[in-house]
Amino acid sequence: MRDTIVIGAGLAGLMGALALAEAGRRPLVLATGHGATHWSSGTIDVWGQAASGGPRAAVAAVIAGDPDHPYARTGVAGLEAACARFRQVMQAAAYPFVGDLHSDLMIPTALGAFRRAALVPRTMSAGALQAGDRVLIAGFRQLRDFYPPLMAQNLRSQGIAAHGVYLELPPVNRNLDFTTRSLAQCFDDGAFRAHVGAQLARLRGDASHIGLPAVLGMRHPLDVIAELERHSGGQVFEIATLPPSVPGMRIASILERAIVAAGGRIQIGSAVLRGVADGDRLTTVISEAAAREQQHRAVRCLLASGGIAGGGVRTDQTGAVWETALGLPLAAPASRRAWFASRSLDPRGHAIFRTGVLSDDRLRPLDQRGVVVYRNVTIAGGALAGADTIRERSRSGVALATGWAAGSRLAAIEA
Ligand SMILES: Cc1cc2nc3c(=O)[nH]c(=O)nc-3n(C[C@H](O)[C@H](O)[C@H](O)COP(=O)(O)OP(=O)(O)OC[C@H]3O[C@@H](n4cnc5c(N)ncnc54)[C@H](O)[C@@H]3O)c2cc1C
Repeated sequence: MRDTIVIGAGLAGLMGALALAEAGRRPLVLATGHGATHWSSGTIDVWGQAASGGPRAAVAAVIAGDPDHPYARTGVAGLEAACARFRQVMQAAAYPFVGDLHSDLMIPTALGAFRRAALVPRTMSAGALQAGDRVLIAGFRQLRDFYPPLMAQNLRSQGIAAHGVYLELPPVNRNLDFTTRSLAQCFDDGAFRAHVGAQLARLRGDASHIGLPAVLGMRHPLDVIAELERHSGGQVFEIATLPPSVPGMRIASILERAIVAAGGRIQIGSAVLRGVADGDRLTTVISEAAAREQQHRAVRCLLASGGIAGGGVRTDQTGAVWETALGLPLAAPASRRAWFASRSLDPRGHAIFRTGVLSDDRLRPLDQRGVVVYRNVTIAGGALAGADTIRERSRSGVALATGWAAGSRLAAIEA
């Protein structure tokens, strides 16, 4: 019987469901829609600021200075455990990640600025360019928001010899409506790859590296890269695009397959409307289904609904703020006037983005008096209070670490 419910299918919910399934529980993931995996870069950003000792040292300092930060609930060891399991699962699916928690990789955005990330898919890692590298940036006019000449110009201004070109699509593909996803599907086709590879060979010049938008196939991007490298003679890498994110979709589908293989189930299109409790135990979760409501017995439940950015927290024009799935108490600004910091670069970020569910050290929800609301519920990811992870650029690191910890701790709760 599926009496372990996970609310949310973002990075936090999927890592939590994986931990539950691997511990022998049979989680049912209920989610309104896909998580922010489908929009985000597909890298794991643990901490956005440079720190000597890398992201691991930065997180240790955050925990020492702020005992209510979500990272304090997992500790550095919890973050490391989550990263290790994530990397194993990705590696097993032939989508390996590189990097570690001791230093960040600096990879280019689609505008040619460099940003830090702790773990990046191997498809992107050759993009950690150095001054003196010679780079060809190649894209397609049909792909919106990816401008190779502009990116190359910005790379040149940072000392990297770069030029940008547009590639021609094969005639048969020219009339499609192009999104990142449809282009990635084109790269799954051998004739399309050969057509692109031949152009790269002709256009490469003396470039040692060739950067392309992150659309190099949905399921076997390393094979696509190897083939393009054989054709062109250059070292090929992917550059994160604007949404939708093919690298993020790859992560979500690998995690989904791992969850199902371990005995879990995923139901997208099932918004959770409310919960029913008996004292301090949640007993039932009620979700939306076609023309009716569906009741799910809940021996244990993980809330990973993403908070304000994921639809797990809503607001209105009166300043009211509420948690959408279980109606849990929130740590939120008292009035609308307090939502945003007066200085836009306030290092603590905006109060509305710190809004979420308070938790104890086992990630169980607390009310305003510090009393555990439900003993059989844990909270993870953007649903947790205590940090503006957008400002910190720690969102995927926090989701990964707390998702894995919340799932592992929940698995230990008996009926
Ligand atoms: C455009 C964009 C770009 C980003 N880029 C980056 C980046 O470069 N680096 C980085 O680290 N992070 C980035 N992020 C953030 C990151 O991807 C995630 O937001 C973060 O990992 C939080 O994950 P989460 O699992 O907590 O929540 P989310 O990924 O937001 O998932 C929330 C889930 O809960 C579901 N849900 C919400 N309410 C309910 C309900 N009542 N019932 C059922 N289901 C519900 C949603 O449908 C969804 O499945 C970006 C986010 C966005 C939107």
